[in-house]
Amino acid sequence: MHDTTPQIEMRVERFVRERIAPAVERRRVALDVTAWEVPDEPVPFAEAVAQGFTPFEPGMPWSKPWGTTWFRVTGEIPEGWGGADVALEMVADLGFSARQPGFQAEGLIYRPDGTIVKGLEPLNNAVPVGPGPIDLYIEAASNPDVGGHYFYLPTPLGDKATAGVEPIYTLRRVDLVERDLTVYGLLRDCWTLVGLMEELEASLPRRAEILRALERMCDVVDPDRVAETAAAGRDALAGVLASPAYPSAHRVIAVGHAHIDSAWLWPTRETIRKCARTFSNVLALMDEYPDFVFACSSAQQYAWMKDHYPELFERIRRRVADGSFVPVGGMWVESDTNLPGGEALARQFVYGKGFFLREFGYEPDEVWLPDSFGYTAALPQIARAAGAHAFLTQKISWNETNRMPHHTFWWEGIDGSRIFTHFPPTDTYNSDLSGADLARAQRQYAEKGVSNVSLTPFGFGDGGGGPTREMMEAAARTRSLEGSPRVEVGTPERFFALARETHPAPATWSGEMYLELHRGTYTSQARTKQGNRRSEHLLREAELWSATAAWRGLADYPYETLDDAWRTVLLQQFHDILPGSSIAWVHQEAERNYAAVAAALAPVIDEAQRALAGPGSAPVVFNAAPVASAGAPALGATAGPVPVWTAPVAADAGWVLDNGVVRAVFDTTGLLVSFVETSSGRELVAAGEAAALLQVFRDTPNQWDAWDIDEHYRHTVTELREADAVDATGDALVVRRSFRRSAFVQTFRLAEASSELEIETRADWHEQEKLLKLAFPLAVHADRASSEVQFGHVRRPTHTNTSWDVARFETAAHRWVHVGEPGFGVAVANDSTYGHDITRRWAPDGSTVTLVRESLLRAPRFPDPHADQGEHVLRTALRPAPTVLEALDTGYRLNLPVRTVTGGGPVAPLVTVSSPAVVVEAVKLAEDRSGDLVVRLYEARGGRARARVEVSEPVGRAWTTDLLERDPAGLPDTAVQASAWAAGEPIEIAFRPFEIVTLRLRRG
Ligand SMILES: [Zn+2]
Repeated sequence: MHDTTPQIEMRVERFVRERIAPAVERRRVALDVTAWEVPDEPVPFAEAVAQGFTPFEPGMPWSKPWGTTWFRVTGEIPEGWGGADVALEMVADLGFSARQPGFQAEGLIYRPDGTIVKGLEPLNNAVPVGPGPIDLYIEAASNPDVGGHYFYLPTPLGDKATAGVEPIYTLRRVDLVERDLTVYGLLRDCWTLVGLMEELEASLPRRAEILRALERMCDVVDPDRVAETAAAGRDALAGVLASPAYPSAHRVIAVGHAHIDSAWLWPTRETIRKCARTFSNVLALMDEYPDFVFACSSAQQYAWMKDHYPELFERIRRRVADGSFVPVGGMWVESDTNLPGGEALARQFVYGKGFFLREFGYEPDEVWLPDSFGYTAALPQIARAAGAHAFLTQKISWNETNRMPHHTFWWEGIDGSRIFTHFPPTDTYNSDLSGADLARAQRQYAEKGVSNVSLTPFGFGDGGGGPTREMMEAAARTRSLEGSPRVEVGTPERFFALARETHPAPATWSGEMYLELHRGTYTSQARTKQGNRRSEHLLREAELWSATAAWRGLADYPYETLDDAWRTVLLQQFHDILPGSSIAWVHQEAERNYAAVAAALAPVIDEAQRALAGPGSAPVVFNAAPVASAGAPALGATAGPVPVWTAPVAADAGWVLDNGVVRAVFDTTGLLVSFVETSSGRELVAAGEAAALLQVFRDTPNQWDAWDIDEHYRHTVTELREADAVDATGDALVVRRSFRRSAFVQTFRLAEASSELEIETRADWHEQEKLLKLAFPLAVHADRASSEVQFGHVRRPTHTNTSWDVARFETAAHRWVHVGEPGFGVAVANDSTYGHDITRRWAPDGSTVTLVRESLLRAPRFPDPHADQGEHVLRTALRPAPTVLEALDTGYRLNLPVRTVTGGGPVAPLVTVSSPAVVVEAVKLAEDRSGDLVVRLYEARGGRARARVEVSEPVGRAWTTDLLERDPAGLPDTAVQASAWAAGEPIEIAFRPFEIVTLRLRRG
């Protein structure tokens, strides 16, 4: 037989595109349209419909970028329309482009009574109508395509002030349509079969069988009478569609989903509307397909619905109750996990799960972070301590160097906690259940032969949209279809139960899941990052002093203010805000929100401190750090004196800062050439090198500008060794340097009796596509560097033996990094920097130099063309640090500077801990507002420890809880230790390495 495969494939493709697809709409008639354009920001339905609407027609342009136009659509259903084999629908095209839904014009359709019908999006632009006259409103959003076809080029579209005022969309059609259900069914048959056929080996009989069936379909469907002959076409395909899946076919649990970035190439106000469009699409689809299941993360997005769309929220609540709308993840947002501090990452779950439990009586069991940029090694413990038992992501498939070996495995964190983890092998969270996506899941699944089930999230995402009826039709046809994986629409819970059952002994991945991409997200948008760091520490202070004052009966606890501040901070840890990958609008708003958080918390802290200090005129120095600082005890206050700086002394060949504890020597250009610990005589700065050296690199990544630092940045460097001026002014050495249009002022200070050299870098930054680093070449032989993460630290190699080490060329750290050799080490701490690189090189004498560099600033041009421009103040501390505990000390002190108020006298700490290895991360009152005290502690050294916790006020009962402050006795399979103490009993706790313990105390 002659092979005519290519000819038949071409014939089928063209026949489907040109004959079948257009015949889905059997008849159409234009509807009447009037319109009202909103002058600026969106308005509620009631306000919009009260405006004067004017006649509007297809072909007319509407709304500038980020504008809104309300369309009113009216009409009658013509005589004789409708019937058993058709659906009557309104179909609208707002001027959609070929780009995916969520990145362009979108709409929300209302009935005249203000209830929501569904969203209006490209590829999902029909709503059922009739019987009776048609009267609908469309709230159309002219969201610009910020990336467009020239993704990564600077664009003015990300800021309303620069986006332009000309309309960017033209209304194309608003029609009443008779949709032919048989032709539609035939089109879906063809789509699934062609998609499957293209994935099958050319040598397989099954592929040829499908092709021949499609050819017969082309023969029996008359191109001039498609509606009349479509049923015969479906009959021609029925045989190949009925052939069941191979017994060994891969099993896919398909979970409806819509990844909705809480802000990214749009501001949060648009995300709120995106959620309404997507969720109403989902609710409409649930009415049509009873087995449809939709998984939705982010309590914040539900909370937005509750506040802005209460009618929709009630319908969601009903669908949550019947199990089809499934809250997943349990976090407030799908946050970044590298950058949020320990307490903040814990609060993502406290606030997220708290909302789900309160509103739905439902607790998600899995952590759902398909898109965040790498995963901290602290997450398994935090997730387990929040009551989760499973974790899902697919982002690590974006690695540019190494492929993760597993799809279903145990993930083990720094403390040894394990969480059952799945990476959907289809490598997407936006599947359309195409043949290609399903085949990829089967082809790539790493546990073949041991287990045979994976999860596929389906639905348009990033900008929302969600699942469509086409996807549900695809799922129905692939339930059991020869050559295809077996698709079952189900819940994440169903998938995880099957995966555990079929794969009882999965492999383990230990430590962080580093994303070998997007390494610039530790540094981009420095003001957003600084806002996060400051806010986290202000919240710590506000809670600590308020709880202390409340337990001493001196003040009320400001629950509402703290809740509001937390929710803002948690929202802004979303994986495109804190990482710095959003448009200008988002980052401008983030900075304003952080300023508002600071303004709200400042009086809370001040009032609590004044209440605690009592009346008087003495300076009272408060220390919120878990370590002593400036003469004040951890978590307490001392009555003066206020700490002082040691004045610099000018020397012959440069300058010297010497306080008897350490001695810093600067050359004539203000470079730090020596830093010696007096007691040991040990030099920290590598011989012949300069520390605290500013370096500027070319920073032109191959793609993803705000996200990526590429390794080739290291090929070009300019070191700022020349000084414009060096002055010993008062208590500091001030060095001025410049680079092109940018100016830097480095200020060096040494506090009395301290071993910490404080380095303030003031940058007036006007570069583009440059990376600014602060370099510390250290005389330390370290094969690993310790970097602070949430509730502990990770140890990463400084060498590049393996491809995994090579790929880890830029890393995230929180307040400090530590490099050491036995008996000696150095800490480099920061007050708002996250990006670091820590490498080694060789000194002429054969020793190794450990080079620690902080990434202070970047200046990417996409998606915010003006990212990081202007003034920045960044603080760093350098000190000798024999162990990580000294590094931890400095990190806390630098981020929690003491505050002085006038008052009566010292303030004893409410909580004291006997072991220096056990650190207090939070002191607060319980979330249930019972007045119980909650103290969160962790073991910080990475070893076992015992600590006695003492509370200055009478305690009636004390017990350990999970992060949600629940008694572990009632929790199934919890990772949290269960301990309890009666009144008067000493609270002694044994910690495993890096263990987090939440202690709850009731007043005696
Ligand atoms: Zn995302």
